[in-house]
Amino acid sequence: MNKAIFLDRDGVINHDPDDYTYLLEETTLLPGILEFAQKVKQKGYLIIVITNQGGINKGRYTHDHVHAVNNFIQGEFNKVGVDIEEFFYCPHHNAIQKCLCRKPDSLLIERGLYKYNIDPKTSYFIGDKWRDIECGEKAGVKGIKIDVNVISDSLINLIA
Ligand SMILES: [Mg+2]
Ligand SMILES: [Zn+2]
Repeated sequence: MNKAIFLDRDGVINHDPDDYTYLLEETTLLPGILEFAQKVKQKGYLIIVITNQGGINKGRYTHDHVHAVNNFIQGEFNKVGVDIEEFFYCPHHNAIQKCLCRKPDSLLIERGLYKYNIDPKTSYFIGDKWRDIECGEKAGVKGIKIDVNVISDSLINLIA
């Protein structure tokens, strides 16, 4: 079986301005995230992104906006030799439409575990919100809560 690092997107990979990030020109990668990604790849982990994008349901932006930001992130990771296996996102917002894919619910991470034959016990979910941690733990994946927009040098030391 494989092992994986599941990453939240906004506030973990790219800077979260405390509002929805959907414009490419407002998307900036956090310092240290590419180096962190390279190190976890060297340790043999797959990288998968799980992100809530409820702004779609609210009409703030579209699927195309989400894909553009995801493609930008994938491109920046690829430049340093790292591939993100897949971006899973929930387009729903609980105030508008109930679903099972919005974190803290775990449908998306469970899809990722199944699709990529990942052992939850050897995998991690890194997020800046408690709902990220809850999502991981519902699927048996250990959660690591970070401060929003902070990838510390010691984060890699928490990964086996
Ligand atoms: Mg976040
Ligand atoms: Zn959903």
